[in-house]
Amino acid sequence: MTYSALKIFKEALTGHKGWKPVWRKSIAQNSYDIIIIGGGGHGLATAFYLAKQFKQKKIAVLEKGWVGGGNVGRNTTIIRSNYMLNKNQAFYEFSLKLWERIEKDINYNAMVSQRGIINLFHSDAQRDSYIRRGNTMRIHGTDAILLNQDEVKKKYPFLNYDNARFPIKGGLWQPRGGTVRHDAVAWGYAHAADKYGVDIIENCEVVGFDIANGKCLGVKTNKGNIKANKIGVAVAGNSSKVMNMAGMRLPIESHVLQAFVSEGLKPILPGVITYGAGHFYVSQSDKGGLVFGGDIDGYNSYAQRGNLPVVEDVCEGGVSLMPMIGKARLLRMWGGIMDMSMDGSPIIDKTHISGLYFNGGWCYGGFKATPASGYSFAHLLATDTHHEVAKNYTLDRFKSGLTIDEKGQGAQPNLH
Ligand SMILES: Cc1cc2nc3c(=O)[nH]c(=O)nc-3n(C[C@H](O)[C@H](O)[C@H](O)COP(=O)(O)OP(=O)(O)OC[C@H]3O[C@@H](n4cnc5c(N)ncnc54)[C@H](O)[C@@H]3O)c2cc1C
Repeated sequence: MTYSALKIFKEALTGHKGWKPVWRKSIAQNSYDIIIIGGGGHGLATAFYLAKQFKQKKIAVLEKGWVGGGNVGRNTTIIRSNYMLNKNQAFYEFSLKLWERIEKDINYNAMVSQRGIINLFHSDAQRDSYIRRGNTMRIHGTDAILLNQDEVKKKYPFLNYDNARFPIKGGLWQPRGGTVRHDAVAWGYAHAADKYGVDIIENCEVVGFDIANGKCLGVKTNKGNIKANKIGVAVAGNSSKVMNMAGMRLPIESHVLQAFVSEGLKPILPGVITYGAGHFYVSQSDKGGLVFGGDIDGYNSYAQRGNLPVVEDVCEGGVSLMPMIGKARLLRMWGGIMDMSMDGSPIIDKTHISGLYFNGGWCYGGFKATPASGYSFAHLLATDTHHEVAKNYTLDRFKSGLTIDEKGQGAQPNLH
């Protein structure tokens, strides 16, 4: 089915009887050319680009739950490309460019909204580091504008500028940053991949690999064994569990991150705001809810739910940044499992097992990476070579010491 303004008009006049399921309910075949494990944003995007861009056939996506049930449907929807290290900046800028045309590419309304993102600074030292980051972005052709306090006040008059401990002195603004409706990204990629003949098999959990003589020949699932020439793993928070089935120990820890939504309010936030004196980021959904989050819970877990101390910490950050948030009622909250890598940057690489490829380590920044991750992983699976923007995301960087330590936190996932 193709979506268009004409189709909506026609359906409105004919009682909405002509809509079809967004993707087929596929049944697993005995063998495929390529299997992607994980029906999250990255897995579905990979399958779509494999089929569309790299003309691959006989592709299946195996998802243990339902499409959109993982982090792709649990995140705070922020997209941006305001990174500092060269090895990350080019990748995330590529991703933002793909977001800018995604709705046409997948023929689905993903509600891409480039309403801008501002990272606030509260000290001279922080301003200097943001100037440096902004300059790196501009060298890469990315938009970055340094705003002084008056300029920030004009855009966001409701913030607490006179906070005695953390007065706001200005911010680094990326106008092209913004938000995208997260579920729509999962549904849209599923819809587009399905159109190219990809089998999306839900409730199909991979429980083992068929490996012989250093080659991966297929997967074992709760629905039987399936053969494949190539297998790509994109299971985000479950990365270490799944790769453990192939005998691999990854430089990844799983942690919980929570998200929060307030009751619906009149439009107040013009864009995404990131507090620089604590960990708090907030935007407003089109329905009016304030969507916000902060730090990970700080202990290893595979549970998709969070704990109360972080709720308190996040709300404290929110109230010190914009005191009026204290009057809003919290409507919903949930948690997702983050695949925290040891340097805070992702991995898109082959493994030492022939035919087995890995994509993970997205920490809590993988939503904005979805298009570029899918494209680069598809490139690797189809051509056995790295895409230019992802060529540094190798597994062996943790052995060679060439880590991509964007935040300068070292090998401490709880701090990334
Ligand atoms: C609360 C929260 C806020 C976030 N905010 C942002 C943000 O604002 N911006 C941003 O860029 N990023 C954000 N992120 C991070 C981002 O959501 C993730 O990095 C990204 O979604 C991970 O990739 P994915 O979509 O493929 O993951 P998922 O959607 O988790 O997909 C992985 C899939 O693999 C499946 N799976 C696991 N094991 C198996 C198995 N054995 N067999 C078959 N299938 C399996 C899972 O069921 C899951 O559906 C946030 C995350 C959370 C939880």
